[in-house]
Amino acid sequence: MTAAPPLCLTVAGSDSGGGAGIQADLKTMLALGVHGMSVVTAVTAQNSLGVKGAWELPAEAVRAQYRAVVDDIGVGAVKTGMLSGAVLVETVAELLAGTAAPAVVDPVGVSKHGDALLAPSALEAVRKELLPRATVATPNLDEVEQLTGIAVTSEDDMRRAADAVLGYGPRWALIKGGHLAAHAGEAVDLLTDGAEEFWLRAPRHDNRHTHGTGCTLASAIAAGLAKGLEVPAAVTGAKEYVTGAIAAGFSLGGGIGPVDHAW
Ligand code: PLP
Repeated sequence: MTAAPPLCLTVAGSDSGGGAGIQADLKTMLALGVHGMSVVTAVTAQNSLGVKGAWELPAEAVRAQYRAVVDDIGVGAVKTGMLSGAVLVETVAELLAGTAAPAVVDPVGVSKHGDALLAPSALEAVRKELLPRATVATPNLDEVEQLTGIAVTSEDDMRRAADAVLGYGPRWALIKGGHLAAHAGEAVDLLTDGAEEFWLRAPRHDNRHTHGTGCTLASAIAAGLAKGLEVPAAVTGAKEYVTGAIAAGFSLGGGIGPVDHAW
């Protein structure tokens, strides 16, 4: 018998194509040496071309999965992803409120193909119920605009956006500027708790096979937190991991392939 590794839980949607969602989360956790556990919130029928269908699970099923894991096994860090609608946002926020472990909240809105993974009517619950429970919130620029109304086009805007996100109550905001046109050759993210500020820069890889990037980054942060790292160290390590995974992303099917976890 060997000692149990750190424990990490993802609360997210299933991607049948294996590139994003629960599947990306568990692959990331395996690669980073933590024990991955999962609470499925929604099932998507999905491939490299997009989301063909999505079915939200009842709140009761989400609650039962979460309680089964946390009450017996325990958890060192939680990551949340696709929550589909206001009912599950509120359910998960309530579950996080009763859990001492740090939480990485990826406020998933729309997939790279433009498929909605969160009902617009749930945005207010994300702001008021979910973000206050987050140790780290990880919005991309589209999610920042949805949540705060700020259309980011510069590093100054990223700072304003981070302040606005922090206004909803997470301890740290990680604004993912990967799509910012101003940073042609770089993917630049801003991590701040309102006092400290870290600019994370990585070379942008010219690879369109990036499905699962956001899920992978958030899970890698959660894995770092489960190992006991402080937030800046967990985020820095996670950014390195996702940069490697993007560089190794591969073509699958006829559309956008996934990042690779075996790099
Ligand atoms: N499908 C599920 C279940 C997800 O959780 C996500 C992202 O969080 C996606 C698809 C979209 O992934 P991407 O935007 O990287 O293609």
